Amino acid sequence: MKYYSTRHNSLDVSLEEAVFKGLAPDGGLYLPRTIPRLPQAFLHNIRAMSLKDICYAIAYVAFHGDIEASVIHELVNNTFNYDIPITAIDNDKYVMELFHGPTMGFKDVGAMFMGSLLRHYIKQSGRFDAVNVLVATSGDTGAAVAGGLHNIPGVNVWILYPQDSISYMQEAQFATLGGNIRAVEVNGTLADCKAIAKQAYNDKELNERMLFSSATSINVARIVPQTFYYFWAYATLARKGVDVKNLVFSVPCGNLGNLASGLVARAMGLPIKRFVAAGNIDNALDIYLNTGLVKEATTFTSIAPAINVSSPTNFDRITALTGDLETARQLIHSYAFAEDDVMATMRELHDANDYVMDTHSAFAYRALQHDLQPGEVGVSLATAHPAKFSSQVEMALGHDIDVPQQLREYLSGTRQVETINSGYTAFKKLLLAYK
Ligand SMILES: *Cc1c(COP(=O)(O)O)cnc(C)c1O
Repeated sequence: MKYYSTRHNSLDVSLEEAVFKGLAPDGGLYLPRTIPRLPQAFLHNIRAMSLKDICYAIAYVAFHGDIEASVIHELVNNTFNYDIPITAIDNDKYVMELFHGPTMGFKDVGAMFMGSLLRHYIKQSGRFDAVNVLVATSGDTGAAVAGGLHNIPGVNVWILYPQDSISYMQEAQFATLGGNIRAVEVNGTLADCKAIAKQAYNDKELNERMLFSSATSINVARIVPQTFYYFWAYATLARKGVDVKNLVFSVPCGNLGNLASGLVARAMGLPIKRFVAAGNIDNALDIYLNTGLVKEATTFTSIAPAINVSSPTNFDRITALTGDLETARQLIHSYAFAEDDVMATMRELHDANDYVMDTHSAFAYRALQHDLQPGEVGVSLATAHPAKFSSQVEMALGHDIDVPQQLREYLSGTRQVETINSGYTAFKKLLLAYK
């Protein structure tokens, strides 16, 4: 399979090259030239299949021309070693919890798959002394990428994050790992962090001396593993005897990687009627769907930092996968909510259903409540364990929540952090010093 750039000004590349480059040379994002369709028999049999078997079947269809079957097996085995529970909230609405992996966020699946894939390529070629993975993050991506790439020989991970807009727990999840994971705290905003990473990627002098890649949702390797759970929802509901003819997924959207994967799952043949995209007020996808304009949104201190994104990195994938604006509007219904309303949803769910949801996931659930029509079945994606955003969740509910042992362990680790100002020079010095 060849991969093309959404800006159409770079040559098509192999999967391996797309994974190592991250961003295409023309600044576009890689997508497969054609999205392979799953055989009809697959959907027929899916309700009887295990999660691993479903993942394997999808990965095989996506990658069999590029990766040996035995390696595809290994990648899949490394991806989901945990459950993806689906809970009925009422007759037609379900919540799918994507956060039972190592860092308790949905990005674990993409990061672990990507980590295994890098490990495979590095082992196979033996030609890289070190690949530097730069991550500009407001929190969860850093944790997931650090977890997925920790201790992989030949991979250095640099996590750039804004000083004041990250939770204590999120920082602990990558800054306490040590080894090949380097936490770089930037005295600035997420936009500053992204700008620094971009400058490093484009720095001629650095590129002559070191190799760079990206493990955020820019990287094409993250798309396929994030399609797995859409299929899993279909299989699980079908097995329960739920009518899955009119299936709607609600997604809390930030950089739009999750939604892009949903669109790919649909293009591969999964019968999804439409998506509901949930974000905060003033979000770029909502502005686009309502006005046709591509505009940067504003960011602010948010109860759900991972969806508070001014220019979503996967935006061009969404437009490429939907085609024209009219189609995009039919396929994606967007919602932009005020935070007070989302906190009310969290209280309602807690009081009426005894269900505690994290802030991001609650945006999606609220959007599903607004959008779902009679005769449809909705699945709302829950993207983080509530304890990852405990202060925000506790503020909404008005009482403390439990923090699982798995998360508490990070808090007792030693933080190793480099602090730099928001200019590029300081970061370049750091990179060169490690060389
Ligand atoms: C990253 C993240 C999102 C947004 O996902 P995108 O793929 O960036 O749109 C939503 N919720 C949580 C908890 C996240 O970490």
